[in-house]
Parts: sequence; structure tokens; C-alpha cells
Amino acid sequence: MSTTQSAESTTQRTTEPRDEVSVLVIGGGNAGLSVAGRLLADGATDVAIVEPRDEHHYKPLFSYVAGGTARASETRRSQRSLTPRGARWVRDSVVAVDPEHSTVDLASGSTIAYEHLVVCPGIQYDWDAVPGLAAAIETPDVASNYTLELAVKASPLLRDTTRGTVVFSQPAGPGSCVGAIQKPMYQACDYWRARGVLDAIRVVLVVPDATVFGISQIDAELDRKIREYGIELITESEITEVRSSERVVDISSRDGERSQRLSYDALIVEPPQSGPDWIAQTGLTADGLDGFVEVDAHTLRHPRFPNVWSLGDAAATRNSKSGGAIREQSRVVADNIRAVQRGGSPTARTTGYGVCPFTVSRSTVVFAEFDDQRRLTPTFPLPGGLMRERRLTWLIDRHLLPRIYWKLITQGRA
Ligand SMILES: Cc1cc2nc3c(=O)[nH]c(=O)nc-3n(C[C@H](O)[C@H](O)[C@H](O)COP(=O)(O)OP(=O)(O)OC[C@H]3O[C@@H](n4cnc5c(N)ncnc54)[C@H](O)[C@@H]3O)c2cc1C
Repeated sequence: MSTTQSAESTTQRTTEPRDEVSVLVIGGGNAGLSVAGRLLADGATDVAIVEPRDEHHYKPLFSYVAGGTARASETRRSQRSLTPRGARWVRDSVVAVDPEHSTVDLASGSTIAYEHLVVCPGIQYDWDAVPGLAAAIETPDVASNYTLELAVKASPLLRDTTRGTVVFSQPAGPGSCVGAIQKPMYQACDYWRARGVLDAIRVVLVVPDATVFGISQIDAELDRKIREYGIELITESEITEVRSSERVVDISSRDGERSQRLSYDALIVEPPQSGPDWIAQTGLTADGLDGFVEVDAHTLRHPRFPNVWSLGDAAATRNSKSGGAIREQSRVVADNIRAVQRGGSPTARTTGYGVCPFTVSRSTVVFAEFDDQRRLTPTFPLPGGLMRERRLTWLIDRHLLPRIYWKLITQGRA
């Protein structure tokens, strides 16, 4: 509940809501638009999306922006132009959910009652989780590809580097497209090599696990590129402090046994991530879920509140958090809600599919597709698999998927 409300006004709002909707979607990102589009295509007539922003971003292209191979304008469209026809856009933020009474409170002070609730407000970036990082990200030498603004900042920072030390860092814990920080790194290395300056740049990649990704076939492809570019890989480690005034970063092994301090000329960081703080107050999460929404991993239905569903980066699923996963999840949530609305059972189930396309040069991609058991699940049975470095998958990832996203995925048609 909103901390500013009295118990009396809360009761009034839950018994006399100002608005009612059949399906209320929290968040008009990749997941929210896709699931709304699918529901409407299946005959649903009363779908509302709560989304505060008027600009929608296609995040997979942020890595290309940071790597200097896409323009910022290619990543954004107006929210209005993408909201599926027939859906009502409530331009507001959800500040509280009362799943016992099936209502949500909005920042504007209104309350909406729902028959079904779909929770997909995405993931939270915890810049404060590493001492000094929140201050450092404001300085000229520290950037990321995790927001458009920081990707735009990373691009000239990497382009204009001709010598010195550049550190790329991936945190432990959950994340959106975990490992995506490597994508601008490989593109920058390819660019520096073409300019003849790569040998003068010490490139350091810090990862939390024992290998660069954690699936042996993918590791083999990425390790080959790491050797080719001369990248220094520091495994089972994290950055533990950034002192931006001195341009130094502390890197410690996760067992606490090793640590080193590096001077950097550029630092490119994937932020630590968790479920949005406000979800913790809703009763929709549970211990040990990092603040993400508790769901049945297959039906995506909440185990305690059967009219609540969650998908995308905010859901506590075991698959890799990615747009690729949402294509399956949005179909499952829409099918299950429609089945329940028609008096049936939610029989649609996810397979746990996830994807991470690693852009390993300015013209090739290692297309990693895998399930929640980290088994490879290639969409197309090409010899050697899509996870081999290929020009074809770069064309798909850089040019075809954005078009499919704007025209079909955001409308729930793919
Ligand atoms: C750098 C980067 C690269 C990536 N690369 C790939 C890739 O190559 N392939 C791939 O498949 N995936 C990739 N992903 C992952 C993919 O972008 C995400 O998995 C996907 O965007 C998640 O969609 P979502 O709808 O769950 O969250 P989001 O897209 O983040 O949308 C959440 C929406 O909820 C809204 N919201 C937040 N709080 C509230 C609130 N309180 N009330 C109402 N609305 C709210 C937000 O404004 C936002 O619009 C990448 C991600 C990043 C960051």
C-alpha cells in the first residue's frame, strides 16, 4: 500500500474503486505490449496498460549504440504508436498492489480494480549496490549499455580511446540479458583492431562465474574471441568499489581471497539488478526471489493469488531474462488468462527458453539459445548451430529482429 494513505481511505478505495478493468497490465515494455496485443487478438475487449513513459525503447539495440554501430533514434518509438489497438493506455505509475482486494493504486492517487493482473514492470538497476558506482556513473569515463543515455555516452568514450585500460564489468546475481556488457566490448575491440590501436589498449573483462558465460559450447566461441582480441578475463570476481576521483576500480574474487586495484581510462558497467523495490510491499514476492514476482515457472500464474500473472524481467522465472523469453511467456500468459476467463484451466506452459545474442565483432554474432537448465535450444538446426560466430545471425539480430519487434512483437503477433 502507498505509505501516504490512511487505513480508512484504503478501505474506501478497495470497496469503491474509481475504475474497473478486465485485464490490467503493469508496464508497457516488451512484455506488457506483447501480452496485451495477444489478449486483444484472442478477443479480449477490456485491457488497460499502466505505463508512465511516453517513449518506448528496444533495449537489444543499446549494445549496438554503445558499440558505435547503431543510432539512438533506431532504439525508440512513441509509446502511443506502439500501444496495441483496442488497449487503453493509462499514463501513470503503479505505486501499490492489493492482491487481496484485486486493486492497484496509481501515483496520481486513483485506484483501479481488476479481474486479472499482469505484472511486468521490468527490472531495477541498483547502482548504489557497489560503493562509489552511483557517483562514478555520472563521470565522463564511466558508462554502460543498460540505458539509452549511458549507451550514447559509451559510444564516443570507446571510439575515442586509443590507449590505456578499459574495464568491462558484469555483476553477480540476476540481470536482464546477463552478459550483454560483453557486446560493446567485442565491437570496440574489432574497431580498435581496425584502427591499429588494439595493442595499446589493455581490455579487462570481469565476470562473476568460473567461465565467461557458463555453457561450454558458448564459452568456447567467446573464449576464442577473447584470445583473438587479447582481452584479459578475470573470472569469479566482481567490482567492489569505484573511486572515480582517482579513476580506480577495486576487483575482488567472490570468495574474498583475491583482490586487485586497477586504474582505468574507461569503465563500462552492467549494474547489479533486482526486482523493483515497490513489489516487496505488495506481497507478490517471496523470500529468496531477489524481489521478483513469485510465479509458477510453467503457467506464470501466481501461486497464492490466482488472478495475478507475471512475465518478463520482473518475474521470478528460471530462464534467462530476455526479449526472446518473452515471446513464449506472453503467449502462455495470454492463453492462460483467456482459458480462465472462459471457465477453463491454465494449460499453456513455458519451456524456459532464453536467448543472448553476443555481438562478437561489428559484423558477426554468437546466437546463444538455451533453456532454464542451460541446455542449448537452437531455433534453426544449422550445421554447427546458431551459436557459432556468424554473419547471418548478425544480420538477423542487428536488422531483422528490430523490424519484427516494432511491427509484430509489440503487437503480440510474434
Ligand atoms: C543492454 C541490454 C541488451 C539486451 N539485449 C537483448 C537481446 O539481444 N535479446 C533479447 O532477447 N533480450 C535482450 N535484452 C533483454 C530485454 O530487453 C528485456 O528482457 C526486456 O526488455 C524485458 O521486458 P519487460 O517488459 O519485462 O521490461 P521492460 O522492457 O523494462 O519494460 C518495463 C516497463 O514497465 C514500466 N514500469 C516500470 N515501473 C512501473 C510502474 N511502477 N508502473 C507502471 N509501469 C512501470 C517501465 O516504464 C517500462 O516501460 C537486453 C537488455 C538490455 C538491458
